[in-house]
Amino acid sequence: MNRVFNFSAGPAVLPEEVLREAADEMLDYRGTGMSVMEMSHRSKAYDTIIKEAEADLRDLMKIPDNYRVLFLQGGASQQFAMIPMNLMKNRKADYIVTGQWAKKAYQEAQLYGEARKIASSEDRTFSYIPDCSDLPVSEDADYVYICENNTIYGTKFKTLPDTKGKPLVADVSSCFLSEPVDVSKYGVIFGGVQKNIGPAGVVIVIIRDDLITEEALPGTPTMLRYKIHADNASLYNTPPAYGIYICGKVFKWLKSRGGLEAMKEYNEKKAKLLYDFLDESKLFRGTVRREDRSLMNVPFVTGNEETDVKFIKEAKAAGFENLKGHRSVGGMRASIYNAMPMEGVEKLVEFMKKFEEENSSYV
Ligand SMILES: *Cc1c(COP(=O)(O)O)cnc(C)c1O
Repeated sequence: MNRVFNFSAGPAVLPEEVLREAADEMLDYRGTGMSVMEMSHRSKAYDTIIKEAEADLRDLMKIPDNYRVLFLQGGASQQFAMIPMNLMKNRKADYIVTGQWAKKAYQEAQLYGEARKIASSEDRTFSYIPDCSDLPVSEDADYVYICENNTIYGTKFKTLPDTKGKPLVADVSSCFLSEPVDVSKYGVIFGGVQKNIGPAGVVIVIIRDDLITEEALPGTPTMLRYKIHADNASLYNTPPAYGIYICGKVFKWLKSRGGLEAMKEYNEKKAKLLYDFLDESKLFRGTVRREDRSLMNVPFVTGNEETDVKFIKEAKAAGFENLKGHRSVGGMRASIYNAMPMEGVEKLVEFMKKFEEENSSYV
């Protein structure tokens, strides 16, 4: 067996301990004589799995009692529609556009009502987070929307926008569980789990009680109503059962490592190692305004496309996978999620130093 250092933005690296445990339980889950994949989602064994997953997530994030946790399907992208369908009572919502994912959500919302762009960082290829301390939030906006960590561009909101009392809706796909959050500051927190938590196929929605109502826009399919899923404890239909089981294991793994405070400390150490190197390197440089840098996704370039290609190729041969930047921006990107060990970042920086020495003629 040869595990690589996987810097993929998603689906991404998972904790090896979790994968091993799942492998051990693959054929016979704890004496049931079957795999979790083969099990009724209404069985006693599965009931324990999904309830423990929710309880552990609540524990990790200190989710207040007036928030519901939903395990849904359709990826983060389906939430781009589900949010306006369920929340746009006045058919008005304000969007802060800080990257491709926020832009997609903003465009999707236009199908359902008046989505207004109240801030954007597109003027400088989304390389920063705009000042959101005093935005022209609409009087009758149903919510204000952000993508909290921009997976493609590597920026992160370090302070949440002032929504002037409107519910804040945040896509946290690529920073989910990377650090502690104050859930009470949000109306809705959602994310696809394939970035920092588990296998693709599960999206987690944490939503404040009062935002779950019978009303949804006319024509909203039953499956896209938060109320249906909340009333049925995420078991209205067959949930992404195996994916939720793996998420549950990752929640336990995070708890065993000291929870989100400890993860934040670890993630900061990992990111600092890479950013410090980028700041002193003569060949490589980061592409994001310093104060807005993500702890999870680190884009960088050499400034020469050929050198970028050479680097990605040689890095791959040395066991560093998926360092190619998103197809829309080029260059490189190292995603260093919770499950990326410090050793992976140390080895990557060592490799980058060596590459820089060998390619100093390019500088
Ligand atoms: C990956 C990603 C998405 C899209 O997720 P899907 O589950 O593929 O729909 C949305 N938002 C962010 C921030 C992402 O990183």
